[in-house]
Amino acid sequence: VAKDRGRAHYRYFQEQMNLSFPNEALMESHLRRAIEKEELTIHYQPQVNLITGEINSFEALLRWNNRKFGYVSPMQFIPLAEESGMIMRIGDWVLDEVCKQLEYWQKKGYRPVRIAVNISPKQFKQENFAMKIREKINKYGITPHSLEVEITESAMTDMQDTFAMLKELKDIGVVISIDDFGTGYSSLSYLKKYPIDIIKIDQSFIKDMELDEKNAAIATTIIQLAHSLGMEVIAEGVEKDQQVEILKSANCQKAQGYFFSRPVPIDDINQSYMTAIQP
Ligand code: C2E
Ligand code: MG
Ligand code: MG
Ligand code: MG
Repeated sequence: VAKDRGRAHYRYFQEQMNLSFPNEALMESHLRRAIEKEELTIHYQPQVNLITGEINSFEALLRWNNRKFGYVSPMQFIPLAEESGMIMRIGDWVLDEVCKQLEYWQKKGYRPVRIAVNISPKQFKQENFAMKIREKINKYGITPHSLEVEITESAMTDMQDTFAMLKELKDIGVVISIDDFGTGYSSLSYLKKYPIDIIKIDQSFIKDMELDEKNAAIATTIIQLAHSLGMEVIAEGVEKDQQVEILKSANCQKAQGYFFSRPVPIDDINQSYMTAIQP
């Protein structure tokens, strides 16, 4: 019986291999041409001020729609792009698109808004990353603090290098946030050493916070921590009314999530938010 099970297991494993490995290689080769084939787009998710209801910032989230694979989640293709090094080119494309968008709004004379861009650890660890950011800002002539870089705790490994890079970014004037805060297993001591502006509470602590007292306690504590350190705080993945209420009573300033809006194409942003605030 054990032998049969072993054999069945082996066959299952082989089928999985046949399915996933060549598929991944194929997907990678499609991803390699995604930029030139104009298969990448950016969706934007509004970040809502819980006190005033105002929306002054958006998070840029990459989307890939391929002829063979259809819509592929960033959870699937971003790791692929990271492993293959493609993330440098893709990340640069995202930054370029976002800065172009900011230039468009700023030239049209819209009220100031900010866009947050996800930066992968590999991108952040490039020696010339801050210089690349400076070049983009100069290329489009945008206000530096209209651009926010979201970095995860896992990217902040080497103390010296990380500090130097964040300091350089800070000097340029871009806004720095920590994404997925509380999931990175890192020590809290970096919070006092690094020039961080915003903490984004990971959505795992927001999910079910209306039922799970532990999640609510963790989220509330992160909010207090951020405020004590003079940082802004954003709750991610807010889906329910009750979550908004808990966050409000904990003095959380900002939130984003399906409760307010899913990430949407730029045309929707322009129609829903940008025309209304035109002077
Ligand atoms: P993230 O930066 O933590 O982004 C938040 C994710 O949560 C997004 O998933 C967003 O669509 C989703 N989300 C927003 N509100 C809700 C909600 O109320 N409920 C739930 N369940 N989910 C919500 P998405 O767009 O699939 O992106 C996944 C991850 O992929 C991002 O996590 C980010 O780490 C990465 N990613 C996306 N775009 C880029 C990019 O341009 N560059 C890099 N390096 N990574 C990116
Ligand atoms: Mg993010
Ligand atoms: Mg996140
Ligand atoms: Mg993330």
